[in-house]
Amino acid sequence: MSLLTFTKTEFHNLFSKPATRLYPQEPRVYPERTRGHIENDMDVCILCGLCSRKCPTGAIKVDRTGKTWSISRFSCIQCGYCVESCPKKCLSMKQTYTQPGSEKQTAVFQKPETEPKPVPKVEPKPPQKVESKQASDSKPEPAPKPEPKQERKNAT
Ligand code: SF4
Ligand code: SF4
Repeated sequence: MSLLTFTKTEFHNLFSKPATRLYPQEPRVYPERTRGHIENDMDVCILCGLCSRKCPTGAIKVDRTGKTWSISRFSCIQCGYCVESCPKKCLSMKQTYTQPGSEKQTAVFQKPETEPKPVPKVEPKPPQKVESKQASDSKPEPAPKPEPKQERKNAT
């Protein structure tokens, strides 16, 4: 490399933007289709276990008794097959990656307890007067006439 080329490259590098990202001051913007990690919306999940059966690495465990859904982060290969197979569409592939660690991490998601639906109160209907048609149609019977008093005649 001639001295002229070297000087030119040096000045270019001095006054141009750095080629690398200033991490962590400058957070990384992930591309739209980045396969980072799996998240589950437990409000929607019905713990059917279909994702667990479809997972090729056995990373997902579903415990219906304990109402938990767990995923071994280090076993997951981010294939996205569970997301496609979920009937409730509560699984999603997030763009950020799992935090590095010295031990294998398992993320456990707990199904929130649902309160029993309140039973709507049924107000008792006020008693309705039921008049039989026959009674309403018939005229009231006239009061019986008083019998005329018989005068006693003296036999004398
Ligand atoms: S397939 Fe979907 S609804 Fe079924 S257990 Fe998995 S995440 Fe929940
Ligand atoms: S992305 Fe693939 S490997 Fe990871 S949990 Fe889902 S099905 Fe299993």
